[in-house]
Amino acid sequence: MIKIDNIDKWYGDFHVLKSCSLEVERGEVIVICGPSGSGKSTLIKCVNALEPVDSGRIVVEETDVTDKGTKLPLVRARIGMVFQHFELFPHKTVIENLMMGQIKVLRRSQDEARQKAESLLKRVGLSDQADKYPSALSGGQQQRVAIARALAMDPIAMCFDEPTSALDPEMISEVLDVMVELAKEGMTMMVVTHEMGFARKVARRVVFMDQGEVKEIAPTETFFKNPESERAKEFLSKIL
Ligand code: ATP
Ligand code: MG
Repeated sequence: MIKIDNIDKWYGDFHVLKSCSLEVERGEVIVICGPSGSGKSTLIKCVNALEPVDSGRIVVEETDVTDKGTKLPLVRARIGMVFQHFELFPHKTVIENLMMGQIKVLRRSQDEARQKAESLLKRVGLSDQADKYPSALSGGQQQRVAIARALAMDPIAMCFDEPTSALDPEMISEVLDVMVELAKEGMTMMVVTHEMGFARKVARRVVFMDQGEVKEIAPTETFFKNPESERAKEFLSKIL
């Protein structure tokens, strides 16, 4: 489903991703963790072509994301992306945030886009917030809007980059609950998170990154109970 094949990436003379390979199966949830600066965000951004790679290939379903000829807006729409900071359009209402991409990129009609947006707002428990501006919402609500907005594009996979790390503790679970539901419905997901409760609940495998390398890929419980590398042990001792 998602095949990251031996990618390398540099920022100037800094080698940020080193021969990274990873395959995510359809319907699989994979959690990516690792120390700050290890390249997790960069890897995720490469998957939906927000960052170009220098070598190697990333293929999502049949689409080569790293091929220069690929139409990027469509790729980005098909691979939903949710960031730490919700990045909603501040001058658009919640419902408009959910409709825009559908109309502009997928060429849906206003009615069709609105219907889809309404059903997704219901699903994330925010039907009553449709006409508010993002700034009037709590962080947890904004993040649920961001998830709904990504889902409005009917993505074939979803990438999350620390979706709960900017939230107050009491709002974390409302966002994780939406993500757990999504996982249970069979969405293919790559999730950068240090929420190990979430990982244990829905991730079949955990990826550990360090210094630009995919250091370990292991079944979730194996990773927690018996990580291979010293670096992963040290990392886990700090976050668990
Ligand atoms: P964190 O846990 O702090 O979010 P991360 O694992 O997501 O870290 P990245 O954000 O992918 O790490 O960054 C990896 C390295 O690349 C870091 O050393 C960072 O400073 C560097 N880096 C990231 N973006 C750029 C950029 N646009 N230009 C130059 N260097 C960058
Ligand atoms: Mg990051």
